[in-house]
Amino acid sequence: MSEKAYLSVVAPVFNEEANIEVLFKRLNDTLGALHYELLFVNDGSKDLSLFKIKEIAAAYQHVKFISFSRNFGHQLAVYAGLTYASGKYIAIIDADLQDPPELIHEMLKKAEEGYEVVYAKRNKRIGESLFKKLTAKIFYRFISSVTSIDIPVDTGDFRIISERVRKAVMSMPEKNKFLRGQIAWVGFKQTFITYNRDPRLHGQTGYPLKKMLNLAIDGITAFSHFPIRLVTYIGLLMSLVSMGAIVYALISKFVLHSTVKGWTSMMILITLIGGTQLFCMGIIGEYISRIMSNVMNRPDFLIEETNIESAAKPD
Ligand code: UDP
Ligand code: MG
Repeated sequence: MSEKAYLSVVAPVFNEEANIEVLFKRLNDTLGALHYELLFVNDGSKDLSLFKIKEIAAAYQHVKFISFSRNFGHQLAVYAGLTYASGKYIAIIDADLQDPPELIHEMLKKAEEGYEVVYAKRNKRIGESLFKKLTAKIFYRFISSVTSIDIPVDTGDFRIISERVRKAVMSMPEKNKFLRGQIAWVGFKQTFITYNRDPRLHGQTGYPLKKMLNLAIDGITAFSHFPIRLVTYIGLLMSLVSMGAIVYALISKFVLHSTVKGWTSMMILITLIGGTQLFCMGIIGEYISRIMSNVMNRPDFLIEETNIESAAKPD
């Protein structure tokens, strides 16, 4: 591979055919003077994204790409980009131009001042649905209140990280990636700039509710013991309730002699306890499924095609 770049820009791509050229142009206009590389990660797009990427990569040496064998999801696409990014600094940017490429300069300046992570915090989100804004707001607030590390609110993956942080993230073996949490976990000097998030240029969001929920669950279980602590609390509460119920049952039998009448309360208790148990088992299951995916030790992603030498080599 060519010599080390000063800045690597990682752009995950899922059905962004109409945005790729504009993204490249805007990046090149603003970063042209730097020794930078652009790394597209095509995450199983079903449109002409890969074709467009390859066109650009054929014409410009500093444009690299990785193309997955199927859709592995945004987080793994970014992760793959980080794996092969060679730069001293690495910028992560969405391919739909919701994150203005021109901001990279401002972020890079902070990184050069010695910050290891410079993230971009969203002031305003323009052109997104009320539902998206609301769910995002709830998600960021909830996750920051239940997790033990400081995950910045209203911040996506648009950021610049240093090589050192990149390596630290690479050394984390977990399978359910939640990169913004992992980067926060790494620590070092971190700072942010603020910006107004633009509407997506073309195309549709690749993050429907189901993917958003999955990301939220990954984030919460990866960085918080809150759900499992909740099980303990609910279990404790239910034991107290059932102790009361036992006392009540005994009094009914031996003092009031009215045991036949207990049907209603029995039903309530049985359903209540049954429901809570199921709920708790569900939460425990979440953690067990994570243990399972880590134990299975599958590769995180499979590359179908690339122009990066070290990525193409089978080991
Ligand atoms: N993306 C991806 N894989 C996916 C979904 C999205 O690589 O399965 C990319 C997408 O092309 C974009 C970025 O991740 O560059 C953010 O996705 P999107 O804009 O669809 O999410 P939103 O901004 O609506 O939350
Ligand atoms: Mg977007």
